[in-house]
Amino acid sequence: MKKPKSVKDDFNLVVENAFDFFQKSLEEFDKEPKYSVIHFHAAVELIMKARLLWEHWTLIITRPETANLKSFRSGDFQSVSIKDAKARLESIVQDGLSKAEYECFLRLSDHRNRMVHFYHPGNTGNKSELEKIVAEQCLAWHHVSRIFERWNEQFQSYKKEIAKIDKVMHEHRKYLKAKFGALAEDIKKAEDRGISLSICPSCGFKSFGEDADNTPILDFECLVCKARETGLMVDCPECGEQNKLIGEPWHKCNKCSHEIDENDVHVFLTKDFVYDKHDLGRSIVAHCEECDGYEMVVHVNNIWICSQCFTKYDSEEVGQCDWCGSLSTGNIEDSYFMGCAVCEGKSGWDNDKDD
Ligand SMILES: [Zn+2]
Ligand SMILES: [Zn+2]
Ligand SMILES: [Zn+2]
Ligand SMILES: [Zn+2]
Repeated sequence: MKKPKSVKDDFNLVVENAFDFFQKSLEEFDKEPKYSVIHFHAAVELIMKARLLWEHWTLIITRPETANLKSFRSGDFQSVSIKDAKARLESIVQDGLSKAEYECFLRLSDHRNRMVHFYHPGNTGNKSELEKIVAEQCLAWHHVSRIFERWNEQFQSYKKEIAKIDKVMHEHRKYLKAKFGALAEDIKKAEDRGISLSICPSCGFKSFGEDADNTPILDFECLVCKARETGLMVDCPECGEQNKLIGEPWHKCNKCSHEIDENDVHVFLTKDFVYDKHDLGRSIVAHCEECDGYEMVVHVNNIWICSQCFTKYDSEEVGQCDWCGSLSTGNIEDSYFMGCAVCEGKSGWDNDKDD
């Protein structure tokens, strides 16, 4: 999509500002962790704003109805928080944040607010608090990097800047070395329990524990930075090779290079299910509230898991939509009127009729 030049200029300025804040934040961590927290948070917030700005400049203003281009250009407006940005990305841009991304960014906001409005133990050089901050920054950068891949259309011309911050982030991990060392015993215990450890994609230490008690579902958690991922063991539909997918379905088969995607995962997870003609209402697929995936959530080992976004749901979180009759995750209490993850209920139907 081609953008008019002025919007692109604004977008670029915001993104450049974000990278500047990332850089500063990492540089000043040693001497002024307080500013590091504030600036890192600002950088993440700016990336969200840039994405909204790409869509339309009024979207980054707290109350778009008061938007005025002149005050926008002079920076005289109140801009959205991460919370508002999340809601707008979801409802307007239809390209929202995952639960894990949002929760991680909210924790950054919380640290930042405590630094600015109150007092934060990390600022007085409290070592374990500082480690917590670095761990969260590593995790946030891990999420931001994924977001850049997802928003490739918008951020593709920033590959160099992204790589640069990535490098500094690797350096930044040195603050977690002591924590990793202190966990030696826990790591040994985990290994004794049969949990295998691999390199954590977020902090880079060999502390990413893989719990395979519930295969094909895998649960990962990093002992150092607490990064969590859900994975799946899935056979390649082309060659049968077993592949370990971490956090997302898109993966090139280790053996034949087939590009595995969400539909392959869905087919694999439902392969043993046979519909019972005496029980036609029984279903093992539901719609996903998190990614809006149509029938992407599959019932596996007493858990419901989405083939597209790997979000897990308990049985209580899955129910039948009173309007369209299909199974859906998310809030379906008012589904007759409000609909479910994939339908708009009676109210949507009535609106359509009026058009
Ligand atoms: Zn980690
Ligand atoms: Zn294959
Ligand atoms: Zn999903
Ligand atoms: Zn429905």
